[in-house]
Amino acid sequence: MIEVRNVSKTYANGTKGLDQINLTIEKGEFVAIVGLSGAGKSTLLRSINRLHDISEGEILINGQSITKAKGKRLRMIRRDIGMIFQSFNLVKRSSVLRNVLSGRVGYHSTLRTILGKFPSQDVDLAFAALDRVNIVEKAYSRADELSGGQQQRVAIARVLAQEAKIILADEPVASLDPLTTKQVMDDLKRINMELDITTIVNLHFIDLAREYATRIIGLRAGEVVFDGPVSEATDER
Ligand code: ADP
Ligand code: ADP
Repeated sequence: MIEVRNVSKTYANGTKGLDQINLTIEKGEFVAIVGLSGAGKSTLLRSINRLHDISEGEILINGQSITKAKGKRLRMIRRDIGMIFQSFNLVKRSSVLRNVLSGRVGYHSTLRTILGKFPSQDVDLAFAALDRVNIVEKAYSRADELSGGQQQRVAIARVLAQEAKIILADEPVASLDPLTTKQVMDDLKRINMELDITTIVNLHFIDLAREYATRIIGLRAGEVVFDGPVSEATDER
């Protein structure tokens, strides 16, 4: 489903974010990427959905090269990939419903999108997504009236409305308290299991990785230093 082949990323200032990474991630896996700040976790996720171009190598999504894709083809590949960020990235002054509907944007003509018009099937889909993360009652609230945990669940609902097959979550719980962290991780895990959505989560804490992931990939200085099932990730470092 996701193949990372010999990928290196060197930033404009010469910093090496990733150094010759090779990974294969199968459909339905729940993978935690762990490593210290600066290890390359974020660079890896940003490379997978091509938020930035890589310097070397190639990344395939369902057999299609996202590295080489352009225009419509690139948009089609990206439609399958949903992103979740530490800072939620919602449109703060918009309603929760509108934020979730924005996951449908890639499915409609630009004009329709600019006008903010969505077919009723999309609205149904958005409500179903909100229901899945137990936050339907907030549909008409302004996004910035919600707590951090609720905002992150809206971001998850947006990815569900997008009908993404892959979720890339970059430190999704880094700004949340322990209780909310558990709720958000539980949601991600449940969605992974119920909908068979391939999930890659960057995490600061190995404990969370152990609790939720089926596979842990450890990065250090842009290189893979550990890759295996949680049961083998025993060395507490
Ligand atoms: P350093 O201590 O120099 O930062 P490490 O090799 O200890 O580097 O680890 C780099 C990252 O990879 C760490 O964040 C750690 O969580 C992860 N890691 C290293 N070894 C293991 C292991 N055996 N099991 C799970 N994760 C590991
Ligand atoms: P992590 O997500 O594990 O904290 P990052 O992927 O953000 O690590 O960073 C990996 C390395 O790349 C670090 O040395 C970081 O300073 C560097 N880096 C990240 N983004 C940029 C950038 N836009 N320009 C230059 N260097 C960057």
